[in-house]
Amino acid sequence: MGGWKGCCTTAMVGKILLIVGGINWGLVGVGMLMSKDWNVVNMLLGAWPMVEAIVYVLVGVAAVMKLIGCKCKKCMAGCASCGVENMDKKM
Ligand SMILES: [Zn+2]
Repeated sequence: MGGWKGCCTTAMVGKILLIVGGINWGLVGVGMLMSKDWNVVNMLLGAWPMVEAIVYVLVGVAAVMKLIGCKCKKCMAGCASCGVENMDKKM
């Protein structure tokens, strides 16, 4: 997890959400192959459908943010660990 240094909080939270979402989708797939329900988000938050939906939306937003890149000062100045080529964005 050393590669997170230098990122702003927003980029970091986005990264965490992407990882959580990715792992969850992976587990859902493996669970489906084994005829089990391994949707961790659903397991943890199934009792609160609203919260569960918000988590999915946040993961989606995090993915879009990863595509576009964080627009905060810190990341625009060049956040190496965000993996965004900020130089191109300034042109
Ligand atoms: Zn940022």
